[in-house]
Amino acid sequence: MPRLGVLGWPVAHSRSPAMHNAALQALGMDDWRYQRLPVPPALFAETTRALGAAGFLGANVTIPHKHAALALATQASSAANEIGAANTLTFAPDGAIAAENTDAPGLLAALERLADMPAHPRVFVLGAGGSARAVVWALREAGASEISVWNRTPERAHKLARELGVRAAPIAEEADLLVNCTSVGLQRPAGVERSATEDEALNQLGLTFDQVGKYSYVVDLVYRSGSTQLLRAARAHGAGTVDGLEVLVAQGALSLELWTGRKAPLEIMHRAAREQHTTDERTTDT
Ligand code: NAP
Repeated sequence: MPRLGVLGWPVAHSRSPAMHNAALQALGMDDWRYQRLPVPPALFAETTRALGAAGFLGANVTIPHKHAALALATQASSAANEIGAANTLTFAPDGAIAAENTDAPGLLAALERLADMPAHPRVFVLGAGGSARAVVWALREAGASEISVWNRTPERAHKLARELGVRAAPIAEEADLLVNCTSVGLQRPAGVERSATEDEALNQLGLTFDQVGKYSYVVDLVYRSGSTQLLRAARAHGAGTVDGLEVLVAQGALSLELWTGRKAPLEIMHRAAREQHTTDERTTDT
């Protein structure tokens, strides 16, 4: 039985198994299975190197292993190398491990929903973690006319900007497209976000409700049922929006195509990810 999976710690709430198993079934690949692979950081390298021999053809990689995944791969795409992280591993029978980053092209694929967006938009990115690196790299490669990056911890924004050849911004800047790559707005947030009002959540991103209205297009990598505070504000101002599930499905589809050589059934993956999402919400609510 060919096996696939998602490596993470924790990974219990990943929507990838539901999304990929629905796709494999729709493609008639009934003997394939995609499963969660909860692996703590200390065991990541040892476990991942053993996956090929255990019948795994590939694995997605999520927090906190994306950097380590690139480090242990025996070969990597130039995208993964330049971003400094891999979210997709492919295991060859001879023990070779290939690393790819589908987060970057996944974002660009999801952006195709914003059909009327300028071809070379000015972009303002919030966050300087792993996903911000993939987003900045992807938009730079796609020909964004200008990219600036804001982060709660400014030193990280400066480092990212230096390494990827964009600009760090101390406060919100005007742009066509705003992309949230921070974890602010996550479902069931902890600490201050738990009691945050809409405005407080936006303030954590260095924004006010009115400032959100200055962006014609807004993408939020965070996914939760309903909507994040940022996307609610953007829609209230009439902006074109893309949510985190769109990006999740797009990156997952590209990984699946890499492993199987088949065209991914996007609508089915979409539905499965959304249904799983609703189930998670119900489970947590009761
Ligand atoms: P990460 O490397 O841990 O980076 C987290 C970022 O969020 C940092 O810039 C951090 O700022 C910022 N942050 C955290 N709490 C904050 C707060 N209270 N106020 C302001 N900024 C805050 O994580 P990541 O891998 O980039 O992921 C970021 C988010 O994107 C996560 O929610 C993840 O689930 C989501 N994501 C979604 C997809 C998708 O397919 N939809 C793909 C990748 C990631 P500091 O540097 O100041 O700590």
